[in-house]
Amino acid sequence: MTSQRTRERLIGRLVEQGISNPGVLDVMRSTPRHLFLDEAMAHRAYEDTALPIGYQQTLSQPYIVARMTELLLEHGPRARVLELGTGSGYQTAVLAQLVDQLWSVERIKPLLDRARQRLRQLRLRNVQLRHADGGLGWEEAGPFDGILSTAAPERIPEELLQQLAPGGCLVIPVGGASQHLQQVTRTSDGFETRIVEAVRFVPLRPGTVR
Ligand code: SAH
Repeated sequence: MTSQRTRERLIGRLVEQGISNPGVLDVMRSTPRHLFLDEAMAHRAYEDTALPIGYQQTLSQPYIVARMTELLLEHGPRARVLELGTGSGYQTAVLAQLVDQLWSVERIKPLLDRARQRLRQLRLRNVQLRHADGGLGWEEAGPFDGILSTAAPERIPEELLQQLAPGGCLVIPVGGASQHLQQVTRTSDGFETRIVEAVRFVPLRPGTVR
């Protein structure tokens, strides 16, 4: 089957699973997930499953990419967004097509370098990448209307909450052996947290790898 047809089938499955944001579905329909995988894995790109990208990291399952993006955009468009855990760059590519400006941080240098090449190939130019510990956020670029993390801290780092603009929204998996996806919104007098669903992500680790 061609990748366009398998991609179409994937979108059908996402709709069945409750994804309804038309922008998210359109962007996932047109973004070639296979380009974000090594050749040996590329034939599995449109299965709704997480796949290895090396360095013991994984490209998230399409359902979870869609769900997190939808949660980030739930209360309207987001102009300035920070992503933690660039990984393969697939979630980055999806986000870049839905927000004005995107900043993305990855702690493993070789993954970041490869992601940079792929994003360039797709001509996504509204993304700035940085090799750093995302748990600290990206202070000079903040505050952000949205922050999305694809790695799980045990507890939400204070820095991320501080870099959220009023009305801004943080979508993040939190926990250790048991993790839950959280949507945290900054209100006029504090933060509102919604626990969305149980998930399984790689841990948000401190420091960087060259
Ligand atoms: N969004 C990615 C998923 C990658 S898995 C994709 O679509 O491919 C999570 C990623 O978070 C890994 O690449 C891991 O190296 C990275 N990560 C873990 N802790 C981090 C940290 N403190 N700062 C930045 N990136 C981190």
